[in-house]
Amino acid sequence: MKPARFSFVRPQSRQEILDALTEHGSDASVIAGGQTLVPMLNMRLARPKVLIDAARLPDLARIEEEKGELRIGCAVRQAQLEQLPNLVSKQPLLARAIPFIGHVQTRARGTVCGSIAHADPSAELPLCLIALQGKVHLRTRRKARTVRAEDFFLGMMSTGREPDELIEAVSYPTAAPGTGFAFQEIGRRHGDFAIVAVAAVASGDGVSLTVGGVDDVARRFDLGAGRDDGLDDALNDIAWSLNARDDLHASAAYRREITRRLGSHVIHQAKAEAARCQS
Ligand SMILES: Cc1cc2nc3c(=O)[nH]c(=O)nc-3n(C[C@H](O)[C@H](O)[C@H](O)COP(=O)(O)OP(=O)(O)OC[C@H]3O[C@@H](n4cnc5c(N)ncnc54)[C@H](O)[C@@H]3O)c2cc1C
Repeated sequence: MKPARFSFVRPQSRQEILDALTEHGSDASVIAGGQTLVPMLNMRLARPKVLIDAARLPDLARIEEEKGELRIGCAVRQAQLEQLPNLVSKQPLLARAIPFIGHVQTRARGTVCGSIAHADPSAELPLCLIALQGKVHLRTRRKARTVRAEDFFLGMMSTGREPDELIEAVSYPTAAPGTGFAFQEIGRRHGDFAIVAVAAVASGDGVSLTVGGVDDVARRFDLGAGRDDGLDDALNDIAWSLNARDDLHASAAYRREITRRLGSHVIHQAKAEAARCQS
């Protein structure tokens, strides 16, 4: 199928993007890498009257390291972040999760902020933003605001972004010394969206587990600094607390079982890495 008719706006500045969003509001969609939006246009699942191109301005394509965070502008492609020098030491969780996103070709076009805006519950970048307790920076012509990741994702492909807001950037905290990170996912084939994805972050203060692909949004759980004795029970509670559903790809029971097994795996990996960093 071909998309319905739309007008295309190619702004020459951030201000022009914001002006166009103010003018067209919910009639407009921002287009970034187009890896999700273009198929949706072709299938007529999305029918915006206006497309506003936000992925071509060099000053929005910067990755800046400031105040213990990587601030990633809305024109930064996923491949650009993947290739950031020393990403593996700046933020190991991102370095480990990004190769699971689609394919080299989709990462070359898809943006980090586009994935956050789309808010797929199986997507790796929203999961990492929740796991690391990052932030989303939103801007309209009149105001700017910053929202914590856990408050930004409201449901399946649903966020707190207003129609006239641009996701200007997102911030992922950099790795604190003595912290361990692990990421794993199960999918049908490499490059497919995850059936279940899990991330663990461990430090002297304790360990957290974030689970994607099961509930409507990725969910983060603090497990404290306790010994491993109660871990199986804690993982079982987590698995049952998630709103798992049967679909074409997997049953709810399978998703809960993978949450328990992969969850245990990444928690042990992250704790072992944290222990190595501290010794
Ligand atoms: C074959 C294939 C496999 C894939 N596999 C995976 C996978 O395994 N994991 C995964 O996470 N993703 C996967 N994707 C999706 C891919 O990561 C997309 O790049 C991503 O979901 C959207 O990013 P984009 O820049 O292409 O956004 P677009 O497609 O341009 O836009 C997506 C949505 O976000 C909105 N938007 C984009 N940028 C902004 C902004 N700055 N402000 C406000 N709204 C904005 C758009 O209006 C649109 O609604 C896959 C895609 C393909 C084609």
